[in-house]
Amino acid sequence: MQPRPNPSCLLLLLWLAGTLAAQTSAEVARRYTSEHQAQLTQAFSQLLSIPNVAADPGNLERNANVLAGMLKQRGVDSRLLSMAGAPPVVYGQVVVPGAKRTIVFYAHYDGQPVTPSEWEGAPFTPVIREVDGEQRIYARSAADDKAAIFAQLTALDALREAKVSLRANVRFVWEGEEEAGSPHLEQILDASRESIRGDLWLICDGPVDQSGMQTVVFGARGDAHLEVTVYGPHRGLHSGHYGNWAPNPAMMLAQLLAGMKDDQGRVLVPHFYDGITPLSPAEKEALARAPVNDQMLMNSFWLGHTDGGGAHLLELINQPSLNINGLASAQVGARATNVIPPTATADLDLRLVVGIDWREQQQRVIDYIRSRGYFVVDNQPTREILTQHPKVALVKRDEAGYNAVRTAMDLPIAREVIRAVESARADVVLLPTMGGSVPLGAMERAAQTHTVTVPIANYDDNQHAANENLRLQNLWNGVETMAALLELR
Ligand SMILES: [Zn+2]
Repeated sequence: MQPRPNPSCLLLLLWLAGTLAAQTSAEVARRYTSEHQAQLTQAFSQLLSIPNVAADPGNLERNANVLAGMLKQRGVDSRLLSMAGAPPVVYGQVVVPGAKRTIVFYAHYDGQPVTPSEWEGAPFTPVIREVDGEQRIYARSAADDKAAIFAQLTALDALREAKVSLRANVRFVWEGEEEAGSPHLEQILDASRESIRGDLWLICDGPVDQSGMQTVVFGARGDAHLEVTVYGPHRGLHSGHYGNWAPNPAMMLAQLLAGMKDDQGRVLVPHFYDGITPLSPAEKEALARAPVNDQMLMNSFWLGHTDGGGAHLLELINQPSLNINGLASAQVGARATNVIPPTATADLDLRLVVGIDWREQQQRVIDYIRSRGYFVVDNQPTREILTQHPKVALVKRDEAGYNAVRTAMDLPIAREVIRAVESARADVVLLPTMGGSVPLGAMERAAQTHTVTVPIANYDDNQHAANENLRLQNLWNGVETMAALLELR
């Protein structure tokens, strides 16, 4: 007798075929990570156990070689882009015949220096702990930024296992000197212009929005520094014998700095806000939709008030800022003495937005200092200078500044990134800029490209501090996001 196909069985097969075909790359990635979670956690731990701080170039090189090997194992054409005196950039590329576009995935494998005594456990002995019922992995660079690298590699594996083919050429550029300020990145990229060119650079670094939602960020603030020193007597003087007569530089500096801002935190330095490129309608709309996390953050940081006259954090990071990074004059606590100190110094950090040049912003602050009656010098003042001018300020410009960058959210390729990420994650936050600074300009110049940042780490990841950690669910979600981005065409 001829076996007759069971109609319900046929229907099931058809349904199965349909769901498999309709699976998005993010769904493919989700299945892959849930099936291989133990193995993946193990492999990620192994990567995190290789020390990756600037003071240890031998191990940085080891990281680079291991990563290049991981790319090769996956059939990715890989090599190191090296330059004397700098950790190598790990480079990989997948050429897709007939592809119209090239997408470059940027991340970095180096981490911030560690002080092991501050860690619960050891920075390069990854350990998993439960926090609020969720697993987190603790190690230097668990979040910043090996998570992104591992998510990209895992997304490749997931797509490959499901036989999903890439549609654009894909390149990987993994830097080894980001935490040291990327001093050689532009030079290394310049020397390999053809290899690193792309229609888009995806910057996979940093934390997602504090709400925990997947975030796509279209720019970063620029950054510039100034160090200001003002002068009192040439040597410390007895505060009783000379108090009320010898000017105190700590007080002079306090008054100078206090004049730079009003009590709402608005900068009073003339022209400080001049030239800002306004947000586009799409950027304004994105900001209006973004979650407001201010109250939660105030609780978490123990803050009783905020600057900005009631404006939200996300609005305020779209403006330039003036921050005192640190102040120093004489001593406090057990080392305090009754003295009129010889100098007082402040380190100032200027964050910038698009439309403001970093050198000009430094100049505006210097002009303000002059307007307060200071004779400004850029070298240690001599006795002559100090006696001939009532008030003298030494202002050192940090020469390593750079401008802000913002990619328009409505560029066709930017829209495709948004679509891809939204296909992977239900709720997506779009932000015109991040508050922090990344030398996106150097990347855009060298690669003649646009940049869009897609971070995956949790915001409370202790990035740059002791006990850095990654919430494992952020890693799994990140693999899905990377898989969706690997499918850009
Ligand atoms: Zn980073």
